[in-house]
Amino acid sequence: MTFIKLITQEKCPVCHETLITNKSNVLLSHIIKTCPKNHYEKEFIPSLEGYVEHYSTPTK
Ligand SMILES: [Zn+2]
Repeated sequence: MTFIKLITQEKCPVCHETLITNKSNVLLSHIIKTCPKNHYEKEFIPSLEGYVEHYSTPTK
């Protein structure tokens, strides 16, 4: 299960906290990992076989 291990040990590029996966949809293999401080979000989309990354940057 190298794939699972890889995706569960990623860290936020901003604060380096370990990303959490509380929004994942296991049935669809659609995995969303987020920074616990909401800096960053990473989605794995099986139909694209790739990731989509979202940075949450304050725009003040
Ligand atoms: Zn962060």
